[in-house]
Amino acid sequence: MTRNSGYGILSGMKSITEMTSDEASGIRFVLTDIDDTLTTQGKLSSQAYQALWQLRDAGIKVIPITGRSAGWCDLIAREWPVEGVIGENGAFAFWEEAGMLKSIFHPQAIKNDHPILEQIKAEVFKTIPGIRLAKDQFARLFDIAFDFAEEEPRLSLEAAEHIRSIAVNAGAQAKISSIHVNIWIGHYDKVSMTEQFLSARFAWKAHTDNRQLIFVGDSPNDEPLFAHFPLTAAVATIHRYRSYLQQYPAFVTTKEGGAGFAEIARIVLESVRSVEIKEVV
Ligand SMILES: [Mg+2]
Repeated sequence: MTRNSGYGILSGMKSITEMTSDEASGIRFVLTDIDDTLTTQGKLSSQAYQALWQLRDAGIKVIPITGRSAGWCDLIAREWPVEGVIGENGAFAFWEEAGMLKSIFHPQAIKNDHPILEQIKAEVFKTIPGIRLAKDQFARLFDIAFDFAEEEPRLSLEAAEHIRSIAVNAGAQAKISSIHVNIWIGHYDKVSMTEQFLSARFAWKAHTDNRQLIFVGDSPNDEPLFAHFPLTAAVATIHRYRSYLQQYPAFVTTKEGGAGFAEIARIVLESVRSVEIKEVV
């Protein structure tokens, strides 16, 4: 039975402390959302950043998977202690190799100057009072992002859902994160880009190697990954979205944001250490 909250019981999520040592010791990759999963109230805490370094130092490969823009992902791939980053909801993967920035673009990714996106933008501005484009829109290649909760005034999740339905009715893809509604043309998602990147970069095999990774997220735009991989976890932030979620992760932390991510990192790191101790003995 879950130890952390009644929501866990309703949704079937277990406390992260219930992950078995067999499950934890098989993990080679930590895939993680960024906003409100690694960050707390918009900031990357020292606790979360330290957890990223500790995982890297223990030989665990960390790969952020985000709706953030190509411009942000260039910085993340070059400067963070990660093995790569999937950006714009699966349009591409960036990574650094021998000091060079490398990339794979999803074959279905279509540039964000498409007329359908212009039409959606006009309809959203006409219909949703107070809505604005995300400030990182200038650094985006494939999607448009509406900011409903990154800056003030924060709009409701209902407003975000309204934007999503305008986009879907116009024939686009749309996902709601904790801060943005991302809208794009072309059939790609975080799962297919993640699998393509892992196979190309690490000779990872879909299905057979699924239990080598854990995905950590917090909100409705993480659902495709929650649905696809067996080892998935959410930071406690997810409770805010429970009425919008159809697919819950297997595990949930007790804390929100970066403190929740650190809980998961601790469990993975303890299992790496216990395997090392067994090998020494
Ligand atoms: Mg998020």
